[in-house]
Amino acid sequence: MAKDKDTTRRVTLTNDFHHSAVTLMVGEDGKLNPGQVRRARRALCGISGCTCAGNLGERGPQAEAAPNDDGTQLEFRNAETGEWSHQ
Ligand SMILES: [Zn+2]
Repeated sequence: MAKDKDTTRRVTLTNDFHHSAVTLMVGEDGKLNPGQVRRARRALCGISGCTCAGNLGERGPQAEAAPNDDGTQLEFRNAETGEWSHQ
């Protein structure tokens, strides 16, 4: 069965300290599974004890999405208005 409302989007998170980036596929709710969280952290910083970054390893202004307080869910930025969606 087709899931009309469950569109998946592709978002890129960046770390402007290590100049790294990771692309994640997430649903409309922005929820991340533990594997995605690990992958993002490893790709963006991955240095044990490094305090450069936020909960997902992101750092600096994010163009598309940013994680919530515990790093398990993303808020999306509207590319046209620049506003953030708050779940
Ligand atoms: Zn780091």
